[in-house]
Amino acid sequence: MRPLLLANWWRLYIIGLWVRCGGGPLTLQKEIYKMNNHLNLLDTGNGNTKIAKTNRGGLYRVASLSLMPDRILCPGSKAAGCFEGCLKSSGRGRFDNVAAGRQWRSDLWHQDQDQFLDRLHKELGNFAKLCKKTGITPAARLNTISDIAFERFGIPELFPEIYFYDYTKRAARLNKTPDNYRLMFSYSGRAQYANQVQIALGAGVPIAAVFRDQFPAEFLGRPVIDGDKSDLINSKAGPVIIGLKAKGALAKADQSGFVIDAERIPALVVAA
Ligand code: SF4
Repeated sequence: MRPLLLANWWRLYIIGLWVRCGGGPLTLQKEIYKMNNHLNLLDTGNGNTKIAKTNRGGLYRVASLSLMPDRILCPGSKAAGCFEGCLKSSGRGRFDNVAAGRQWRSDLWHQDQDQFLDRLHKELGNFAKLCKKTGITPAARLNTISDIAFERFGIPELFPEIYFYDYTKRAARLNKTPDNYRLMFSYSGRAQYANQVQIALGAGVPIAAVFRDQFPAEFLGRPVIDGDKSDLINSKAGPVIIGLKAKGALAKADQSGFVIDAERIPALVVAA
């Protein structure tokens, strides 16, 4: 009930601003942008449900960066067909203020990349210091719901004390990241994406696959592990299939090839 009320207040606030600004859509866009300018890029608490499961257990503290995905931030999404079933609007992403914050971060990336990288640099530095003080190992997931090649901007190298990990739908990124940045490949069964899957299989990295119901024992000739426990463990699992359960109504209904029906995979043994 409370999140619903907050979401409505947020809408009223936006409409109030719009009226105050004279009703122009561009002015409103500018006001929303300014309003969010105080936000941090990183969430260093457990604000994202995808990160909370990994933080459980307490050896690492994970900082996450959540943007609003689009076709530029996720260039592999067209071939993979994952854009509609993406988790962008599930969990806390359903709330208007969360979606607005993510949109502000994406806009900042598109409009002023230098400022974005400066801010990210500062926030990662503060996070690393905080973790040192509290005696916990820092980890970071910068592509919680995006697929930016952060290795091209030298970010992981600047913070060797932080363990970076991400999923990607861009096979060209695999095995090109520094030692403290591990990538897992994200599978889709679409024909347009088959060459990406072949490259990923050859790269020997963990491959994440989303299943509608139960996991098969094997997929693509590799054993399937339960990947819903910890992404940090998944990132170090080697050449396995990381089995993930489809979450959210859109993902569960997905027919693009991104979500797999285990019972429709021929010649595979389904685990009990
Ligand atoms: S690449 Fe990932 S974040 Fe981007 S649209 Fe696909 S599932 Fe969503």
